[in-house]
Amino acid sequence: RVHSDDGEDSGRVRVTVRLRPRNAEDLLSDADFADCVELQPELKRLKLRKNNWSSESYRFDEVFTETASQRRVYEVVAKPVVESVLNGYNGTVMAYGQTGTGKTYTVGRLGKEDASERGIMVRALEDIITNTSPASDCVEVSYLQLYMESIQDLLTPEKINIPIIEDPKTGEVSLPGAAVIKIRDLDHVLQLIQIGEANRHAANTKLNTESSRSHAILMVSVRRSFNEKVEYEVSSQEKDTRNGISGGNVIPTVRKSKLLIVDLAGSERIDKSGSEGHSLEEAKFINLSLTSLGKCINALAENSPHIPTRDSKLTRLLRDSFGGSARTSLIITIGPSARHHAETTSTIMFGQRAM
Ligand code: ADP
Ligand code: MG
Repeated sequence: RVHSDDGEDSGRVRVTVRLRPRNAEDLLSDADFADCVELQPELKRLKLRKNNWSSESYRFDEVFTETASQRRVYEVVAKPVVESVLNGYNGTVMAYGQTGTGKTYTVGRLGKEDASERGIMVRALEDIITNTSPASDCVEVSYLQLYMESIQDLLTPEKINIPIIEDPKTGEVSLPGAAVIKIRDLDHVLQLIQIGEANRHAANTKLNTESSRSHAILMVSVRRSFNEKVEYEVSSQEKDTRNGISGGNVIPTVRKSKLLIVDLAGSERIDKSGSEGHSLEEAKFINLSLTSLGKCINALAENSPHIPTRDSKLTRLLRDSFGGSARTSLIITIGPSARHHAETTSTIMFGQRAM
């Protein structure tokens, strides 16, 4: 089925870019330099400086300046996907970018003291809670970390090496053994995400790594029950199997859908920074998952009938949540500093290829 509720980017990947405000480090090291990017939000364009004389301009579905609010980012990046999930379709929201450019701020920020700071995970769940009914609907979450091609449960951290199972008939992806928590209210959500963050931190300290080396994945399952009106008459045989439910053209229906919100591992080329203590193994696995993600997103953008999801656990996990009727939204995050010109360029190219 094809989405028809909103216009221009239906059926492909929505790609947006967000610029992080300058931080103290940028200010110190860039005293003599101009920014490496210039944003033209009204044109939805970003100009990337190539050298002192020239720049290249790129168009996105939206360009967020350093003053864009968390609310606005949610509304543009994630809300259409959430609405689609509430209507029974699967969807994915992902943040991609170099470490330190604002992926976790954009996606995972709790905003406990200041609700205006809340990120996409909290806002999406808030929206889903508000638009479902505890009487007829069920909202569940799992929170996972994918590190070195191994899935860990961030809500039950003793669970490691969780397998990915795919239903051969429906293509539905499941993670047997991962904790699945039924959501009560927004406080419950905040509590779960906080537990997940603490476990992510603890797990990474134990492994002597950094959270920037792993992908964090919040999986939200929505199950809604309602009475569907149908045009045709139900056959008497069907009526019998439906256990006394009659009334001809009103059928009790359950609709299931899934939203994945992904805080991706840092996209910086870590194979070049072995001096900082990153193992070659880590580099290989991160490159593998982000490269295979890139291939899948390119295939989606080109409306290819085949999305090559087999190559990594990240893309196998996403398999039923992008392509087909599922919606995908990618936000790429960048910093302003000229000293990260190469990484910023590569991030922008990743985003452009997804369009
Ligand atoms: P990443 O997850 O990509 O490594 P973070 O989200 O941790 O990056 O952001 C790095 C730092 O920059 C954090 O201190 C974060 O609070 C800050 N930051 C990032 N984006 C913004 C923003 N849009 N506004 C204010 N602070 C931000
Ligand atoms: Mg982060």
